[in-house]
Amino acid sequence: MDTKINHIVVVGGGSAGWLTAGLLAAEHGQQLKISLIESPHINTLGVGEGTWPSMRNTLQRIGIEEIDFLRTCDASFKQGSKFINWCNDQGNDFYYHPFMSPTGYEHINLHSVWQSQAPHQTFASAINNQSDVCQAGLAPKQLATPSYASVTNYGYHLDATKFAQLLTTHCTTKLGVNHIQDHIISINNDSDDYIQSIETESGQTIKGDLFIDCSGLTGLLIGQHYGIKNLSQKHILFNDSALAVQVQYENDDSPIESATLSTAVDNGWIWDIGLPSRRGTGHVYSSQYQTDEQAKETLTKYLSETIGTEKTQALSFRKISFEPAYRKKFWHKNVVAVGMSAGFIEPLEASALALVELSISMISEQMPKNREQMAIIEKRFNQRFEYRWQRIIEFLKLHYVISKREGKYWDAHKASDSIPSRLQELLTLWKYQTPSRYDLPEQEEIFPSVSYQYVLYGMGFKTSPVQLSQEKQKIGAQLILQNTQKTKQCLDGLPSNRTLIRSLITQSPKEL
Ligand SMILES: Cc1cc2nc3c(=O)[nH]c(=O)nc-3n(C[C@H](O)[C@H](O)[C@H](O)COP(=O)(O)OP(=O)(O)OC[C@H]3O[C@@H](n4cnc5c(N)ncnc54)[C@H](O)[C@@H]3O)c2cc1C
Repeated sequence: MDTKINHIVVVGGGSAGWLTAGLLAAEHGQQLKISLIESPHINTLGVGEGTWPSMRNTLQRIGIEEIDFLRTCDASFKQGSKFINWCNDQGNDFYYHPFMSPTGYEHINLHSVWQSQAPHQTFASAINNQSDVCQAGLAPKQLATPSYASVTNYGYHLDATKFAQLLTTHCTTKLGVNHIQDHIISINNDSDDYIQSIETESGQTIKGDLFIDCSGLTGLLIGQHYGIKNLSQKHILFNDSALAVQVQYENDDSPIESATLSTAVDNGWIWDIGLPSRRGTGHVYSSQYQTDEQAKETLTKYLSETIGTEKTQALSFRKISFEPAYRKKFWHKNVVAVGMSAGFIEPLEASALALVELSISMISEQMPKNREQMAIIEKRFNQRFEYRWQRIIEFLKLHYVISKREGKYWDAHKASDSIPSRLQELLTLWKYQTPSRYDLPEQEEIFPSVSYQYVLYGMGFKTSPVQLSQEKQKIGAQLILQNTQKTKQCLDGLPSNRTLIRSLITQSPKEL
């Protein structure tokens, strides 16, 4: 049997599907045919508004100009996350998990430098300038900074529906992606149990050699067809529900936040994302600990504080349910699950689209030529991504475990039988030593050890400082001083998020 890969069929037209089709068409479109099929009856999720800095590279690889992306996707710059009220229930704490790694991180123990030289500052602020830039609502660059380049590292906040529309136009008009709007009704295997073709409602039979399952939470090919199970993680991370709502700004000049705001509440947390034309907000919670009505009350109270009761009461909330889980296998035979079909835990730290980008990068860079090669890549892909899902779960859980908040929901999160044993061991270790590359040894860790440090020390976790040599103390003092100077330069020289976006768009008013 000829098992050569000639035709890739992407199933699903959400962010995952179009990012996949775009990257594969940009990098393999000369040799391979790429088709994308999406159902006219099933809407895309339409949430997922926070990205990581990796999205800059992905967009460049797909061939999208940054200015076109900013304009058409109502996008703004995101420099990290601001966690509010996560440390305790007093209502007065916050810390940042910025995107930038601090200078000197690889060479010196910055935790000890911070403890010995600048304990009056927060950890993030003492060793890096980005949390102060975010706190001041500033942009990550100046008007003259080239596209996709930065002064401080950044990703984006974006309108997910507009993002899928931009990708659709770009992929179909510039990259030759064959776009099929039809509903899949059945799937045919060959004698080796590989998928040979899919049948659609309008009577088409679409043959393919490699199928990328981006069909969302149902996992049409990986789950429904092949029966690969979703491994529930609800015993570790309990959130399974979200209420989402879009909110207008007070006026056209209202500031745009430079980080995703994530505010802890009694039974979950609230996200607040600033786009140029509106805010995207929502409450993530566990149905085990509160009803939808209680969730609505909590979100209403939060929104009333910024837009007033009357405007809040006029809003319509959208409920989304999900099982926090990931697939036992992501690649099976000639199907690879990417996006929600591969799994979803919860949006804290916005890692879902980053996982999509990592998945499609590996598929593109390891593109198999035939089934013999594909079977080996399948094994490697599954090992690598199982590792990544487990690290995501541990990192998200960390935010809950070290909180001093109380109440049934928070207490349950801290119960030792809900904490993965590897994380329990690390927490013991981190009392004596800081998170390092020995704890996160992979070259492409989804969350590097500095992310753990930002969260741990942002939340008041105590690690015994090490005694630094005199020479290291001198280097440390210089790093702290340089960071103070850089912070001042940034605070003096960077425009606000809104000013930069407005200037970029008015300077280059071309419509796509
Ligand atoms: C509350 C919430 C907040 C989130 N926030 C973030 C965030 O800040 N950052 C982040 O990175 N991620 C976030 N995510 C995740 C993010 O939304 C998703 O990763 C992203 O939207 C990709 O979804 P998708 O393309 O996999 O699936 P979907 O958008 O659900 O698309 C599924 C596609 O499959 C098609 N389809 C389904 N069945 C068929 C069929 N039978 N025939 C043909 N086509 C079919 C549908 O028509 C649709 O086009 C969030 C998720 C939730 C629930």
